[in-house]
Amino acid sequence: MYSAEVLSQLRSLNWLADEIRRVPPGSREEGLLQAQVESVRARLPSSILGHHDRLALAGKLSTVEVQDGSCGGCHKRLTPELLADLATPGRFGVCPSCGLFLWSAEAHAADVQPPSNLSGQP
Ligand SMILES: [Zn+2]
Repeated sequence: MYSAEVLSQLRSLNWLADEIRRVPPGSREEGLLQAQVESVRARLPSSILGHHDRLALAGKLSTVEVQDGSCGGCHKRLTPELLADLATPGRFGVCPSCGLFLWSAEAHAADVQPPSNLSGQP
């Protein structure tokens, strides 16, 4: 079930939660954002939602980017196995230390655009 689709839904949820904090409580904007949250949540599996909600309650974002082979949340070094998995386009994993959903910008950029051969490698 780990796919680019799930990841993008989770990132939408994090973004929406942020927007909701910016608008006046009880406003029309809040209602519209809340409706979007519901429609995104309806598409996510409950196990993933449960995990997301626990993190959101603790005031954390549920997705974090891999930075230089380390978790962008807790900065622990990730195992080569996990990094290899994350390097596969459309895949993401969970940090064994802090439990955040990890994604690699490189892998997800590759979804959209094949990497150009600028590195000098044959
Ligand atoms: Zn971590």
